[in-house]
Amino acid sequence: MNKVVIATKNKGKVKEIKDILSELPVEVVSMQEEGIEIDIVEDGSSFEENALIKARTVKQYTSAIVIADDSGLEVDCLGGAPGIYSSRFAGEGATDEKNITKLLAMLEGVGEPERTARFVCAVAVVMTDNAHFIVRGECEGTIGFEPRGRHGFGYDPLFYIPEYGATMAQLGPEVKNTISHRVRALEKMKNRIKYY
Ligand code: IMP
Repeated sequence: MNKVVIATKNKGKVKEIKDILSELPVEVVSMQEEGIEIDIVEDGSSFEENALIKARTVKQYTSAIVIADDSGLEVDCLGGAPGIYSSRFAGEGATDEKNITKLLAMLEGVGEPERTARFVCAVAVVMTDNAHFIVRGECEGTIGFEPRGRHGFGYDPLFYIPEYGATMAQLGPEVKNTISHRVRALEKMKNRIKYY
């Protein structure tokens, strides 16, 4: 059975990626489960560059296929911020709560029509022969006025999906994993990987 290593320490991402790839005939493990305990410097200038940096770095420690997800939130009225800085928006090592508090403060006084945003996810795949490809998925929504819901991670409690009348954190994994930026990128990945 082929093995796929996920190049992230983010437990929320690991859980979602394992769920989404669960029907594939491959063993999916996190880098920690593979015994890879390294810190990766993400100094790229796009989601795609950062995803490839993570995947290539972890590939140096395993012979398995490696996939890495670099993702984040783009808020239109903030010129696309926090973007690639989403995880450290409120400072290095910031908690999800601190990032949410900072985002809400920056959007104070901004009305609903101007609160449009999207989640973006770039997935980089490095194959056993070191060939690579990168795919992207996006999910449109708006930023709420207060956190709602208890599922998911990161900005999910603020990310409102008009079609569902709920935040990503209220919808839970069954729905999130059919509409998210991550599932959209991973579906493209599954289609590409078939041809290897
Ligand atoms: P990365 O680990 O550098 O890719 O940072 C991703 C950050 O973007 C996370 O720490 C979250 O703050 C945010 N993010 C990415 N995907 C999601 C998601 O599915 N829900 C909520 N927040 C997300």
